[in-house]
Amino acid sequence: MTEIPKSHPRYASLVLRERLVEGFRAGIVVPQGLIAHGRGEMFDYLLGERTTKEAREASRAGAALLLKAKRPVISVNGNVAALCPGEIVQLAKVARARLEVGLFHRSDIRVSKIESVLREHGAKEVLGFLPDAKIPGLDHARGLCSKEGIISADVVLIPLEDGDRAEALAKMGKKTIAIDLNPISRTSRSATVTIVDELTRAVPELIRNLEDLQGDPKAAKLALSKYDRDENLKRIRARMSVQ
Ligand code: ATP
Ligand code: MG
Repeated sequence: MTEIPKSHPRYASLVLRERLVEGFRAGIVVPQGLIAHGRGEMFDYLLGERTTKEAREASRAGAALLLKAKRPVISVNGNVAALCPGEIVQLAKVARARLEVGLFHRSDIRVSKIESVLREHGAKEVLGFLPDAKIPGLDHARGLCSKEGIISADVVLIPLEDGDRAEALAKMGKKTIAIDLNPISRTSRSATVTIVDELTRAVPELIRNLEDLQGDPKAAKLALSKYDRDENLKRIRARMSVQ
């Protein structure tokens, strides 16, 4: 791994690039994943690479939705496994959610590598290696999923999700929580709750909000009722406009 000087003003962002390159060399991240990250970086740059008030509000609403869920599932792809495997496993524990590997560019070897990374970070169960169902409307391997996981879930957390998959999940009636830096992506516009924030900042924030709202159903209800996705996305777009 290339040594990044801690004094660099954009240290955090450069470390993430290194994690993705490592993930790519390990066969966890596909080259397309590197491109997707670059698109995300651009939006994050416009936000000043920090968590906004809007992202905090969305995160509280997302946490409230997860607390209400009967069968929550977290969908994990290569970029997510490379960027913050430990935090995603911790999130699954706090949210009592199952982990399912879901890949746009699916191969058995990559699913099994991602599963191993999650297990190394403490996951007891990882779904997705033996898919036994399909998300309606999606052709080929990108629609494959697990009956026990995504198909029977009521709430699905979709970090860095492809727009087509996100829309198909919404059409199935799933409540979805997106983590996506692009406020105009189809994913962002089709999710029940959209957290426009960088993944490695968004996941710990979601964990904090889950812990905070856990014993406080009144506050959880309020966070969800106050949240308006389109209005939240509009405020974020305004923040991003360069003067
Ligand atoms: P659509 O949803 O319309 O298909 P898209 O084509 O931009 O939008 P993809 O390229 O399929 O979406 O998925 C990648 C998305 O994830 C991008 O919108 C990108 O902004 C976002 N993204 C990439 N890396 C990160 C990250 N580390 N944290 C948060 N979001 C990220
Ligand atoms: Mg897309």
